[in-house]
Amino acid sequence: MTPATTGAEPMAQAVTRLRGAGLRVTAQRMAVLMVVAESLGHLDADTVRERAQQVTGRLSLQATYNVLHALTDAGLVRCTQIAGHPARYETERHDNHHHFVCCRCGDIRDVACSVGAAPCMEPQLPEGYLTQEAAVTFWGLCPGCQATAPAS
Ligand SMILES: [Zn+2]
Ligand SMILES: [Zn+2]
Repeated sequence: MTPATTGAEPMAQAVTRLRGAGLRVTAQRMAVLMVVAESLGHLDADTVRERAQQVTGRLSLQATYNVLHALTDAGLVRCTQIAGHPARYETERHDNHHHFVCCRCGDIRDVACSVGAAPCMEPQLPEGYLTQEAAVTFWGLCPGCQATAPAS
């Protein structure tokens, strides 16, 4: 029987991924990486800190940001900036996906890139500019908010 990769120990996976990215393995980095990997959603730094603290013990918000930045720079975590929201963190899967944000409740959903590889759109720019990525945010109402409030 071949061992299922999905069943692999999260801790062992975190160590492998940190080392693979050339990062020194620390308890804080492991905890933050595991918290982000376990979440299917998009976490803000405060939520990451709260959950990581349950593994490592006390973690300051600044330390959390430092770890998140290191993981983002190393390509393990993806940081998404959405206007009016704190930065959100999720596992970097290099799938070039976009986001749908509900204007009322702030629910964030992944939207598969409809084109494929980055950059999926070519903006009109003067000669000499090189576009590497397009990050699209779709705004609207989630099903729950459509049911509870009339669209304005
Ligand atoms: Zn909503
Ligand atoms: Zn996402």
